[in-house]
Amino acid sequence: MIGAWLAEAGGPLLSGPPTHLRTVEADKDMNQHVTAETGDPVGIDSARREDVVRLVNLKRRFGATAALDGVSLTVQKGEILGIIGRSGAGKSTLIRCLNGLERPDSGKVFIEGREISRLGERDLQPLRRRIGMVFQHFNLLSAKTVEDNVALPLKIEGRPRAERLARAAELLQLVGLSEKAKAYPASLSGGQKQRVGIARALAARPALLLSDEATSALDPETTRSILALLKDINARLGLTILLITHEMEVIRSIADRVAVIDAGRIVEEGAVWQVFANPKSEITSSLLGGIRPQLPPEIASQLAAGEGAETILRIDVAGEAARRPLLSELSASVPGPFRLVHGGIDHVQQQPVGTLFVAIPGSDAAHLAAVIAFLKDRGARTEVLGHVAGSV
Ligand code: ADP
Repeated sequence: MIGAWLAEAGGPLLSGPPTHLRTVEADKDMNQHVTAETGDPVGIDSARREDVVRLVNLKRRFGATAALDGVSLTVQKGEILGIIGRSGAGKSTLIRCLNGLERPDSGKVFIEGREISRLGERDLQPLRRRIGMVFQHFNLLSAKTVEDNVALPLKIEGRPRAERLARAAELLQLVGLSEKAKAYPASLSGGQKQRVGIARALAARPALLLSDEATSALDPETTRSILALLKDINARLGLTILLITHEMEVIRSIADRVAVIDAGRIVEEGAVWQVFANPKSEITSSLLGGIRPQLPPEIASQLAAGEGAETILRIDVAGEAARRPLLSELSASVPGPFRLVHGGIDHVQQQPVGTLFVAIPGSDAAHLAAVIAFLKDRGARTEVLGHVAGSV
């Protein structure tokens, strides 16, 4: 049953043969498609069909505030893209432009290759069904049972009750809540409510699951189980997921790629492990602050410029560099004992990513330059944090 759904989950927006079977002639036809409401030709992005979402230079202002200031990004079929930013960064505006609730001032939104930015409300309806939404506060209907909540999108589509209930049962099994089909939302825990929210989001077989701070109202343990569920659905069904969050831990747990948004701009984008290993922007470093090792404050407070008995280095390693016997190589190259003060190697997307804080004897500039060059040669990034008078 899930196999049949898999075939449908990423199916084409318009009825007809799957994307990869369409002929050039059919593509030409699609390019001729005309919206019912405006009569304008709808742009079909034939070169980028594997992008479930493509945003091109989106701009949206509210008075003096640029909520979106030229956002371009893609979500590829089957991937989990995380968009992270602080409050006010532009995340909600981006979501509203994606589901057509907000019109960008300029720029284009493509969903499964179709440009939606200029569609009228009537043409937007079927498109919205291609996006399943999961919300922070679940948005369940309290007067309806769990199974009726899950089946709601199908009721809106006018599907027969038997079909709706069969689909709800299938989805409740997927999210591990079969025994709650007849229960009401008030009797469920937060985690269970979100499982119902996820099942409902999947009911109409969307091409994209859009998760808007889905775990922000949940405790850490429940958050982990909901993220594991989303990852499992992505892996088993190949479902494309766009996650909006302000928490790097969420990105770290399940995203393949991350885009960092700040003041309406994407300031950084890349594979999660690479962005974690080498953040380019201040905002990314700051968002990573809580989950990458930092020098403990009692040591940081003793750091001074100039000279000292020891120099504290921060060494960032990732990928191949983190698999090398770096510390023994450093030991062989640096005279005198050196000490590991703090840090460790983590794993992000199965890649080692680590930060080591090391104290080396003395503060001779030429010697330090040689150490840094040595580490650079082995693929590590090194920063001199300062000097300490004695052992820390
Ligand atoms: P986020 O979801 O990341 O918190 P938003 O997209 O809600 O960010 O907001 C981005 C910026 O745009 C903020 O400065 C916000 O105050 C402003 N903004 C968003 N929507 C409106 C609106 N309808 N009217 C005026 N300002 C808005």
